[in-house]
Amino acid sequence: MKTIKDLDITGKTVFIRCDFNVPKDEDGNITDDRRIRGALQSIRYCLDRDCKVILASHYERPEPGVYIEKYSLKTVVTRLRTLLKIADNITLAKDVIGENTKAKAAALEAGEVLVLENLRYEAGETSNDIELAKELASMVDIYINDAFGACHRAHASIDAMARLFDANHRAAGFLLAKEVNFFDKTLADPIRPFVAVVGGSKVSGKLEALRQLLDKVDKVIIGGGMAFTFLKAQGYEIGNSLVEDELLDEARTIMIKARKKGVKFYLPVDIIVAPEFSDTVPSKYVSSQEIPDNWMGLDIGPASSRLFRTVLNDAQTIIWNGPMGVYEMDKYAKGSLKMSHNIADANATTIVGGGDTADVALRAGDVEEMTFVSTGGGASLNLLEGKTLPGIEALKA
Ligand code: AMP
Repeated sequence: MKTIKDLDITGKTVFIRCDFNVPKDEDGNITDDRRIRGALQSIRYCLDRDCKVILASHYERPEPGVYIEKYSLKTVVTRLRTLLKIADNITLAKDVIGENTKAKAAALEAGEVLVLENLRYEAGETSNDIELAKELASMVDIYINDAFGACHRAHASIDAMARLFDANHRAAGFLLAKEVNFFDKTLADPIRPFVAVVGGSKVSGKLEALRQLLDKVDKVIIGGGMAFTFLKAQGYEIGNSLVEDELLDEARTIMIKARKKGVKFYLPVDIIVAPEFSDTVPSKYVSSQEIPDNWMGLDIGPASSRLFRTVLNDAQTIIWNGPMGVYEMDKYAKGSLKMSHNIADANATTIVGGGDTADVALRAGDVEEMTFVSTGGGASLNLLEGKTLPGIEALKA
């Protein structure tokens, strides 16, 4: 896969597909701008080479054709102005491929940046429409994909558009290259012991990743809602906790495979339980063998956190994907926050999968302590599953 450094871009008009899909609070303030900061290196690289730069991203899931302020990239552009410190040279277009964009693109000067409006205002983005791709491509000389977080989707700006450029005119940006190299290198040649910490809501969502990881890691720690399917598969009563009954056999197979391969497999030994999915009801911690009928497990307990800390003690490489509990409610966030601290404290290469897990590390104040925090949840999971990402395939096609 070529990177931006392999192309001759000086003075050219460059399209950079970014992932500016950043989380915001209820007042519309950006709560985590890592994805925007992650794109700066490629943008600056182009500006330093007198390029005219066109940036594009999706933001959440607006209804195509309906321009609602909430889905606009306006706030992102404000943040970009602050971060790039070139306030006057960045403009936001009013549309994606409409007259306003075309006029602004034609008037771009070297060292200026034009940000297109939310790509998903165009229906063709998610349907990988070639006509939309052609319209976007018609404005530029060079295509750069730096949107790791969107690379697992074959959308027009990720897939169809990339294929319209030859190998000398398309490449990965710095962020995309860094993300892919990190996962590839770590999975191909990890320093051992290599520990995978897997949590989140469902086994089904991470089944393939778990299967793949069993071939690579020395230890697996399971937490979050998915732990209950494994506990039930071992014969424990799990009350009303989240469970996927249809995957009990699969869970058993995974644990047997782990034993055969000598992979140490750890489940929570105690659980924070509550009678309802709520943070206003009384909760308590019980051993994993004593989850009361009609109660549900919403976080791992303190003994599990201590156990997992010991398990991580000698780790040299740690991959973490998925929270240990319902961390969105403070009452059930402790297990996830402690896991974040434990991983951050480990004397190891630490890789945090994106999305919720990165959010936990951020809340825990541990982001700077991790070796690498991915900007893509779904995309990083796909890499752990051993899948190729459509966005990367398109760059190689
Ligand atoms: P995922 O998208 O699969 O990584 O799952 C993340 C979600 O798992 C978060 O929204 C958590 O609230 C949820 N989660 C973690 N532990 C539990 C649990 N014990 N019961 C229900 N949901 C959980």
